[in-house]
Amino acid sequence: MAEVVLEGVGKCFGTRPVVQDLSLHVPDGSFTVLVGPSGCGKSTILRMIAGLEDVDRGRLLIGGREVTKLPPQKRELAMVFQSYALYPHMTVYRNMAFGLQKTSTLSKGEIDRRVRQAAGKLSIDHLLDKKPASLSGGERQRVAIGRALVRKPKVYLFDEPLSNLDAKLRHRMRAELRKLQEDLQITVIYVTHDQVEAMTLGDQVAIFNQGRLQQVGPPMQVYDNPANMFVASFIGSPEMNFLPCGIRNRSEGRFIHYGAYEALLSDQDAGYGHAPILLGVRPEEISLGQGGQADVQGVVQRVELLGADALAHVQVAQDELVVRLPITQAPRTGQGIALRFGRSRPRLFDSETGHRLQGAAGVS
Ligand code: ADP
Ligand code: MG
Repeated sequence: MAEVVLEGVGKCFGTRPVVQDLSLHVPDGSFTVLVGPSGCGKSTILRMIAGLEDVDRGRLLIGGREVTKLPPQKRELAMVFQSYALYPHMTVYRNMAFGLQKTSTLSKGEIDRRVRQAAGKLSIDHLLDKKPASLSGGERQRVAIGRALVRKPKVYLFDEPLSNLDAKLRHRMRAELRKLQEDLQITVIYVTHDQVEAMTLGDQVAIFNQGRLQQVGPPMQVYDNPANMFVASFIGSPEMNFLPCGIRNRSEGRFIHYGAYEALLSDQDAGYGHAPILLGVRPEEISLGQGGQADVQGVVQRVELLGADALAHVQVAQDELVVRLPITQAPRTGQGIALRFGRSRPRLFDSETGHRLQGAAGVS
C-alpha cells in the first residue's frame, strides 16, 4: 500500500481552470473521499492521479515516488468506475483474470489463486462461471471491485461506483466496501457527489467546489466545524439554518444577536459586520424552549414525520427555520413554538464572502 500526495496540482481544459492549486495528503491505508457537486472537478482529479489526464501544474507522489509524468500502467493503481466496464462476452472469472493475464507475468496458478481469493472476499465465488448480463447491479459492481483486487495495486481509485444501485443496495455495498478496506488496510480514494456517502465512508473527506478544495478532515470535524458556508450547507441534511444577526455595541464589546440569542464577537472578528453576519445552526441543535427559556418564538408552518424524529419548518420573523425534534415532541402545523439554540460556541459566517468568522463566545 502507499500514501498519495498532491502538491499544488492544477488543470485547465482549454483556458478554463477545472482544478486549482490542489494540495492533498492521502495517508497510507486510509479511506479518503472526494466530494462536491457535479462538475466541480472530482473525476478530473482522480483521472490525473490515475495518469489518464495530464497534470498541467504541480506534482503527484505515490508511495514517496514522483509519478507526475509516468504512464498509467507504471503507477500501480486500480480504478473502479460507476459503469463497471465489464466485458460482456467473458465470464466473471475471465473478467477478473483478464487484466493479469494480459499485463503481468504471474503464473496461471497464482492468477487462479488471486481470483478465487478475491471472489471469496466479495462473496461472488458462486458466480465465477456466469456472464455479466445474468448478474444484478450489485453483483456486477462486486466483479468490478474484484477485478481491481486481484491486481493488488498500491492505491484504489473509485469514481462514483455505487451510483447505479438502488438506495438499499447502495447502503449495503457502502458498508461492505468500508469493511473490505479496513480488513485489507488498502489505500482508497473515492469520489462521490453524495455527502451522506462521504460522511459514512471516509476516514477523511475532502470537499470541493468549482475546482477548489474547500476543506479536508475527518467527517465529524467537517460537520461540526465547517470552514465556510459552502461546506456548512453542502454537508448535512436537511441543510444548516443560516440566520441573519443584528449587531449590538456594548461596553463589553460587540455582540451579534438573533432574537434573544447573543454572542460576543471576538477581537479577531472586529472587521466583520458590514455585510450581515449569519448564525449557522443545524436542525438538530435546536430544541424546544422550556420554562420561559427561549431564544426565539415562531409559528409551525409544516411538519414532516420521519419515524424516529420530526422536521418542523418554523417561521420566525422573516426566516424559516428547520428544526429536528424527537417524534414525541412533534408539534402541529399552525402552533406557536418557543425554540432554543443548543450550541454554546456559535458558528458565524460573513454573508457576502461565505467566510467563517474566527470565534465568538455564546453568552445567551
Ligand atoms: P465531476 O466529476 O466533479 O462531476 P469533472 O471532473 O468530470 O467533474 O469535470 C469538471 C469540469 O471539467 C466540468 O465542467 C466538465 O465539463 C469539464 N471537463 C471534464 N472533462 C473534460 C474534457 N475532457 N474536456 C473539456 N472539459 C472537460
Ligand atoms: Mg465525475
